[in-house]
Amino acid sequence: MNIRCSSLPRVLACPASLQEPEVRIDSVGDEARVGSAVHECLAGAVSQSSFDTASSARNFKVPEQDVRPLVWRGVKIWNDIQDSLAVAVVEEQMHEVVVGSCVEDHVSLSGSPDIIAFTLADEEAGEHADMIVWDWKTGVQGPEYIDQVMGYALLASKKFDYDLATHGCKGAIAWVREGGWEIVDLTPAMFDDFGARLAAVQSEPDRYGPSEAACKYCPRRHECPAQTALARSAIADLTAVESQLTDMVPADLAALKPKADVLKRLLGLYDKSLKAAVVEAGSLSRGDGREMYMSTREKRKLVLETAWPVLAELLGVDPEYFPTLLEKLSDMGAIDVKLTKVLDAVGDGAAKGQKGKKKDDARAQMDAIGAIEVHKYDVLTTRKEM
Ligand code: SF4
Repeated sequence: MNIRCSSLPRVLACPASLQEPEVRIDSVGDEARVGSAVHECLAGAVSQSSFDTASSARNFKVPEQDVRPLVWRGVKIWNDIQDSLAVAVVEEQMHEVVVGSCVEDHVSLSGSPDIIAFTLADEEAGEHADMIVWDWKTGVQGPEYIDQVMGYALLASKKFDYDLATHGCKGAIAWVREGGWEIVDLTPAMFDDFGARLAAVQSEPDRYGPSEAACKYCPRRHECPAQTALARSAIADLTAVESQLTDMVPADLAALKPKADVLKRLLGLYDKSLKAAVVEAGSLSRGDGREMYMSTREKRKLVLETAWPVLAELLGVDPEYFPTLLEKLSDMGAIDVKLTKVLDAVGDGAAKGQKGKKKDDARAQMDAIGAIEVHKYDVLTTRKEM
């Protein structure tokens, strides 16, 4: 049995998710693609001190504005810590049969740890260098990620002949969305427990453990019997109290929240699957004379550092007044200036009847110097069937 380390949090919570789905639906969401683009940039930043957010955003078909701030936060975290570490490998694919006291020898793990590094210890003086398993996280914080890091630690311990059973190691999890990071001591006892849980995956192949975190990216989520059973029970419970909801005592309302969350999660899943099906087919009939298709919308964003000379003049501000901090924050994507608000501000100073023209002129000037970025995005739309 092979388990990818990135699937470990899900598989350990729900061994049944390892079973092959009858139909494999490929619906990698924007969130996952942004994560991949950020990882590509941060791998470049660590291994070659260079990255290109625009190129990575293009590679993974996501807006650069979603990638850039996360990459800058990751780079900042890395700059703070890198001098105290010796980097051994960056995103190297590893695949090992995991043996020893931790797991049964017929379980193998595979995956590409973001960074394996070692602390700078004077080994000649008898000091021991701790292995650090570094993992960039672009999602929201959650404790279940530790299992993924422990999987990488097992892989890396084989490659570097590092003795986890004696020393344990350290997991470093960098939460780039929040801009923080934490070090977790992974002790030998934790690896023993991890091994026992891995072995249990083999002995309980039909155990289901649905949860938001586990089911979100599960390949079986479109046809999972546990999800169907939960949905039936949630619908029955909520329908039974439908007429009493407005008068219900707070404690009873609160008790219904997990049921409501099950339905919300399923509806989210339905939306995602529907969009994937419409993208695949081009358009889909609803069977009632209307059809669904994806239409492309545009969003215009002001690039503050490019717009600044023109904008300063239009707003009557000294162009020298653009402090370095503001410039840096803008470059990091940490300032999101709304183009429509800026144009409103420019138009506010116009003479009566000239407001529209002044806004149009300002927009044209900023367009001419490349200070307006256009981002395209697709939305699910319905129209009369053609
Ligand atoms: S959808 Fe959830 S409960 Fe069903 S197999 Fe996947 S992780 Fe388990």
